[in-house]
Amino acid sequence: NIPTHFIELKNDNRIIAQKIKVIPLEIVLRNTAYGSLCKQTTIKPGTVLEKPLIDIYLKNDDLNDPLITKERIELMKIISSEDLDLIINLTLKINAILKSFFENIKLKLVDFKLEFGYDSKNNILLGDEISPDNCRLWDLNQKNDTIKSLDKDRFRNDLGGLIEAYSEINRRINDFL
Ligand code: UDP
Repeated sequence: NIPTHFIELKNDNRIIAQKIKVIPLEIVLRNTAYGSLCKQTTIKPGTVLEKPLIDIYLKNDDLNDPLITKERIELMKIISSEDLDLIINLTLKINAILKSFFENIKLKLVDFKLEFGYDSKNNILLGDEISPDNCRLWDLNQKNDTIKSLDKDRFRNDLGGLIEAYSEINRRINDFL
């Protein structure tokens, strides 16, 4: 019951999607502290958060996608506060679905980034993609920090084994489905 832009899978690397007007906000949900949260606060990497934390960033390359507040979003008239609440509630719902899905295949959903947009009838739809490029996924079978990341951190932190990591996620998902 999540409204998304997805229509159909055309082939292995192409989807057909509904055209949306993308809202210039990156909605990050964190279950476990890592990445910028630990660089900008005193929270230690790996801390399991008592409840999911939603951090919203302004999509603006010139400003380096800054962390932004609800009040600033209102001030800039990017979206109404009702629509922002709707997006936040959808994000929490998506987290509940994805977290338990990934637990089934022994992956810990640390955090992820979503983007939303408006369709031609002004409905809010989930857009973009959900992949190891915009999720942090840790292998629950591994304790060793350098091998447990099965996501883009392998590239960001120069850990190697990026294709193997993404292939492993693909394999686990296909086996599960
Ligand atoms: N993320 C993303 N695109 C961005 C920034 C972050 O997809 O431009 C994702 C990232 O993969 C992670 C989550 O958002 O799953 C939180 O990222 P964070 O804010 O910790 O930033 P990072 O440490 O990646 O700079």
